[in-house]
Amino acid sequence: MPDGKFVTGRNFDIAPAGIEGYNTGAFMCEIVGNIDKGHDKLEGKQLSSALELYNFLVYECGAQVMFHNEHASKTCPGTGLDKAQFVKQVQSFKAETGKAPSSVGNRP
Ligand SMILES: [Zn+2]
Repeated sequence: MPDGKFVTGRNFDIAPAGIEGYNTGAFMCEIVGNIDKGHDKLEGKQLSSALELYNFLVYECGAQVMFHNEHASKTCPGTGLDKAQFVKQVQSFKAETGKAPSSVGNRP
């Protein structure tokens, strides 16, 4: 969400219905907003939360970052979000904070 909070969808034990042919074994995250160029920007608390989540998924769960627009004729997550740059931000998020990704969900 734009305030950096998360809203869950279906049970995590059930395969998502996100990208046809890529749902099995996947975890999908929707970024709320219109992130196409000239519209909303992924920034602030929303960006920080997204980076923390993706950092956890990549480094603790062995996930790979996949954008919807790689396998569908959609702009999702938005033309304003460059995948290579986002992946670099996910990688550097860990280094910048020095925070153990396993702290996700264990905040006071
Ligand atoms: Zn999408």
